[in-house]
Amino acid sequence: MERPAELLKNVQIVEQEIKATSAAVDSSKSVRLVCISKLKPASDVLALYEAGYRHFGENYVQELIAKARELPKDIQWHFTGGLQTNKCKDLAKNIDNLFSVETIDSAKKAKKLNDTRGEKPIVNVYIQVNTSGEDQKSGVKPGKDLEDLARVIVKECPKLKLLGLMTIGSFANSTSQKENQDFRTLSECREQLPPEFGQLELSMGMSNDYIQAIKQGADTVRVGTTIFGQRPQNNGH
Ligand SMILES: *Cc1c(COP(=O)(O)O)cnc(C)c1O
Repeated sequence: MERPAELLKNVQIVEQEIKATSAAVDSSKSVRLVCISKLKPASDVLALYEAGYRHFGENYVQELIAKARELPKDIQWHFTGGLQTNKCKDLAKNIDNLFSVETIDSAKKAKKLNDTRGEKPIVNVYIQVNTSGEDQKSGVKPGKDLEDLARVIVKECPKLKLLGLMTIGSFANSTSQKENQDFRTLSECREQLPPEFGQLELSMGMSNDYIQAIKQGADTVRVGTTIFGQRPQNNGH
């Protein structure tokens, strides 16, 4: 099969699963699929773009900048990688069509992104929450740290819009068939935030666990491997 046809087949399967699952959970709700194209060629993104897909996610700042430069300007880019404070400016200044940064986990990063965005459009952000408590995972702790960061974004960052909460969760939880404890924790984090933050979305679920994530209330799922296949080794990043 030609590559574009293969990608289209894969993404349509994912989309059907999303529709079937979300219809069973809440028929009024539509779940956003973000196609995670990190380490895959721009031609893969373009193939899906031409089939009508617009939301794509990338994990490496330089790779995202290069793809955003080359690809159509109405793509809605999500940054989903680990974010360093000193890279916030590159993201903010180079990508007009940056739909969201999903991995904000400190006030410093939020402010840096805000302060360097200039006249470009507002960027949606998700606060990444470390729901599994694993040391190696990024994200703020649930509770006061989360609430404090949400307040900084809403009160001090006019170029950012707080869209929701995001988690990756532990590998063990992503492969078990039961209710996912990390997704439950993310959902509880949202419930515990005061109403001043409005109705926040949940970004959770990847190739292994997006169906379970939708069952537990995901508004956005981030799927890479099931659409694009295995990624090459991440040399050079
Ligand atoms: C790579 C990545 C994904 C996609 O993971 P797959 O298992 O390939 O679907 C989703 N979210 C984040 C934050 C990622 O880094």
